[in-house]
Amino acid sequence: MPHDVKPPDHDVEPHVAHNYSPIPVTAASAEGGWITDVHGKRHLDCLGAYSAVNFGHRHPRIVAAALEQIERVTLTSRAFRSDRLEPFCAALAELCGKEMVLPMNTGAEAVESAIKVARKWGYDVKGVPDGRATIIVAGGNFHGRTTTIISFSDDPDARNGFGPYTPGFVRVPYGDVESLAAAIDETTVGVLVEPIQGEAGIIVPPDDYLPRVRALCTAADVLLIADEIQSGLGRTGRTFALEHWGVEPDVYLLGKALGGGIVPVSAVVANSDILGVLHPGQHGSTFGGNPLAAAIGHTVVDMLAEGTWQRRATDLGNHLHTRLGEFVGHGVIATRGLGLWAGIDLDPALGTGKDFCLRLAEHGVLAKDTHGSTLRLAPPLVITVPEIDWAVDRFAEVLHG
Ligand code: PLP
Repeated sequence: MPHDVKPPDHDVEPHVAHNYSPIPVTAASAEGGWITDVHGKRHLDCLGAYSAVNFGHRHPRIVAAALEQIERVTLTSRAFRSDRLEPFCAALAELCGKEMVLPMNTGAEAVESAIKVARKWGYDVKGVPDGRATIIVAGGNFHGRTTTIISFSDDPDARNGFGPYTPGFVRVPYGDVESLAAAIDETTVGVLVEPIQGEAGIIVPPDDYLPRVRALCTAADVLLIADEIQSGLGRTGRTFALEHWGVEPDVYLLGKALGGGIVPVSAVVANSDILGVLHPGQHGSTFGGNPLAAAIGHTVVDMLAEGTWQRRATDLGNHLHTRLGEFVGHGVIATRGLGLWAGIDLDPALGTGKDFCLRLAEHGVLAKDTHGSTLRLAPPLVITVPEIDWAVDRFAEVLHG
């Protein structure tokens, strides 16, 4: 054990900022779908680090790629080239059907980067007067925690107390095409949307919404920026959630699972007429596109290019949604989702989502609440049908016990 790791399970972590309220399970190790705590108890991970662990904890192929790269070179900064970055970007661009990749680290950084790119594209290409570009966002959005991003959030916890806010955003209700159409004007450079809203409770929009958003953006010469940071890379049964509706965005934002559950890797992916607006010195990141991240991200792209993960998410998701459907009307108000991603609205009379998660954890299942009494499940795609059944049986015990 490293010299400074303290073994006990802390209910209180006096040196850790209190910006989270974690379930009191202290991970010591993990493999596949399972997390083992410091007492040796195993928990089935049904959150998958909010979809960042799509391929399971410590997937052997990703770990091997990481270890191999650690033995060679891990960080150069973009001041020099590494032999890993161009092959990774080429593979990721091909997966997305685009030409260029802007590599970053966290999801929020990818979103921030896309905001800059869209504004610059608006001035350089679309001809919007300098300083007037606007971006349309959706009510209930979650795109990260930086100052600009929380400026267009409507979640009081995310926003209140952190002003002054960044201007240049117009928020319209999610799923409402008419409001979006009315909000577009000559200053609009982008529409930023989660194809399925994750943090809001796995909200799947009406079937005609995303195709109509695409048509509006095309007609008005506005960039459709798809935040697939949580919904993308296999989670919903497709490489990108937008594929369910046959929609191709102008800009993909990717993160979470792109780092294989090992390092933060995010990316803005688009054609060169969009990403080409960035010139040297205008944007960057010391760690973005580092050789270790590129080696891991490239392995993730290769794994996704095979298509098996997407099929697995579809099949396992069908099983999960069928099983969860049994509870509707019996302590559960509604369930939703696509692929291996589910939002479950619990009957508020049964207590808060957080209470429910605490009880689930006692039964060996790790999940996370969102917004009062909604539970979300995003287990690693390596989970098996018997493991899903086991987790659902524990869910039933908590629900009825
Ligand atoms: N966008 C979406 C859709 C997300 O779900 C998240 C994180 O949950 C982010 C952006 C922010 O990613 P990160 O936490 O890596 O900054």
